[in-house]
Amino acid sequence: MPREIEVKSVLNKTKKRDSWFLDDYTLNLYSSCSFNCLYCYIRGSKYGANLEKSLSVKTNAIEILDRQLFNRAKKNQYGIIVISSATDPYLQIEKKYELTREALKVIVKHKFPVHIITKSDLIERDFDLLHQIDETAILPPDLKQKLDRGVIISFSFSTLNDKDGKIFEPGATLPSNRLKALNKTVKEKFLTGVSMMPLLPFISDTTEHLHLLFSTFKASKVNYVLPATLTLYGNGPADSKTLMLNAIRKSYPELENRYLNYFKNGYEMPGFYQKAFNKKMVELCKEYQLNNSIIH
Ligand code: SF4
Repeated sequence: MPREIEVKSVLNKTKKRDSWFLDDYTLNLYSSCSFNCLYCYIRGSKYGANLEKSLSVKTNAIEILDRQLFNRAKKNQYGIIVISSATDPYLQIEKKYELTREALKVIVKHKFPVHIITKSDLIERDFDLLHQIDETAILPPDLKQKLDRGVIISFSFSTLNDKDGKIFEPGATLPSNRLKALNKTVKEKFLTGVSMMPLLPFISDTTEHLHLLFSTFKASKVNYVLPATLTLYGNGPADSKTLMLNAIRKSYPELENRYLNYFKNGYEMPGFYQKAFNKKMVELCKEYQLNNSIIH
């Protein structure tokens, strides 16, 4: 059972809007994340090796959000709210608590735009509210000329292979079902894209799998793709580097030495790999005529 906690603030103003995710604000209604992705950047001793066990529900989040958005709207501080940056808004427990659904109702009321980032098909439940936000949200002045939508929806994929999904993101909706949800979202005519973060070296960044990813998302008619490679941190038992290396040892023993070699002293792939990766992504975006940013 998740812990129930009360918070003083739930809407976080970012220092600077990130050009990839366009976040003026972030909103995390849950703390920790039962999707349990091994590569997740929130990993570390704070939450433990099984993120589901440290899951908390911010039970007073809606009341606080209502107050915080009221104050921001009064000062005309409209901006895109990213839901979520450090958990998924559509975890299994969202079916019971409906915090994301209630938050969207408050967001409709205050007319803020949103960017939903998820690995779940539960988002389909909230298409009705998301349509309302899409039509009525007030964009920040500097985005009005560049973006004419109040809702952006990014599905996050590190692979399209269900077997690898079960290994590396064991609690999330399977990639095949996630893809079905993505296709439904596109059919609803939302501004929809894919965050391919991270693509897994030698597993989902092979030439074959990259073409599968790009051709699949092209066929889905997404508006953009946001690819990035893997970063892994820490050597403690709950850290992403330790957990990923254990999983590689178990499921991809032939890759163990390569991963050890690349990540033994650092948190990212070496410069030559990153250079080649970035070049490849530009080429693939060109080949498949896919945008590599939300605003272009
Ligand atoms: S869904 Fe996102 S926040 Fe949750 S474990 Fe995976 S990467 Fe982390």
